[in-house]
Amino acid sequence: MKEEQIKKLLNFTIKENNVIKALKLPQEIFLPLLFSIRYGGDWSLKKNSKKLMSVKEKLTKYDENKKVGYTLELIYLFVNPTLISEIGKIYRMEKCSNNNERKLVERPYKVTIDGEYIIKATLDPKSMKIFLKHLKGPLSFTGSGAYGVSHEIEHLNHDKIKGIPFYDFEYVLEE
Ligand SMILES: [Zn+2]
Repeated sequence: MKEEQIKKLLNFTIKENNVIKALKLPQEIFLPLLFSIRYGGDWSLKKNSKKLMSVKEKLTKYDENKKVGYTLELIYLFVNPTLISEIGKIYRMEKCSNNNERKLVERPYKVTIDGEYIIKATLDPKSMKIFLKHLKGPLSFTGSGAYGVSHEIEHLNHDKIKGIPFYDFEYVLEE
């Protein structure tokens, strides 16, 4: 990393710390959210007897006339998430950062969850701003958001993700 980049990263980190201080909560609860912003994806971890998770949804806005758009990232941070309801069953392949093999898992199509504390971060690539907002639960997610919630809650409650590995599939040559 070049000196200029290091300075910018430090500056970003200082501003990040200031925003967190303004929210008046222990710094460590924001870790999954900061990981989602810096490295992408969903994250979960247990810290000082708190269960923490961040789940990311993506929303692409596209102007058909100008043929240009952007993908908003909506990242939800939950402190001690509690599952209120799950609807439906979707069979799908998932890969976890802990494990290289893709697995067949079952996920709900819709989930409703609450948390002791919820923050929504909206990362806007157009304005290059990250908006933070405290939300009151419960919140519902469908599709990929629901799969993300279910995956991270499975990590928080059971550590490992259970599923059927890709090598149990069979190739079929079609005529
Ligand atoms: Zn995982």
